[in-house]
Amino acid sequence: MKITSLSKLSVLLLLLQKPCHGYELIKGITEKFGYSVSPGQIYPFLFSLVKAKFVAVQKKGNRDKKIYALTPKGREFANKVVESFDELISLAVSKKVHVCAHCQCKVLGSSYSEKINGKKVYFCCASCAKSFARR
Ligand SMILES: [Zn+2]
Repeated sequence: MKITSLSKLSVLLLLLQKPCHGYELIKGITEKFGYSVSPGQIYPFLFSLVKAKFVAVQKKGNRDKKIYALTPKGREFANKVVESFDELISLAVSKKVHVCAHCQCKVLGSSYSEKINGKKVYFCCASCAKSFARR
C-alpha cells in the first residue's frame, strides 16, 4: 500500500497515538494539522486499511460506534511510513523556520522580515526589527 497523500499520512499518525472513531480522525486532522478533510477522503482509506488487516474495527458503547485501531502489523506499517516521511517533513519544516536576528527566537511560518544592506533579515516581530536597526 502506498501512502500518497497528506490526509492518509495524518490518519496513520493519529491512529499511532490511539484508536479513533472516523469522526475523531476528521476532527483530529483539523485540530492537530490545521486543514480539513471530508469523510470521502478518510473512509475509503480506512476501509482499505481494514482490508489489508492493518486496522481492526472495534465496536464500543451502546450506539455501536466503530473504533479503528491499528493491528500490530498495521503499527509496523505506519511506523515505516512515518519514518520515510520524517526526513521530508523535517526538511520542509526547517525551510520554514527563521531565527529572529534580534532575540534569536525561532519563528515558524510567516515571520517579519526586512531588507538590511540588501540582505533579507528575519525577525519575530516588528519591534525586534526596530531594536535591531537601532544597534
Ligand atoms: Zn525577536
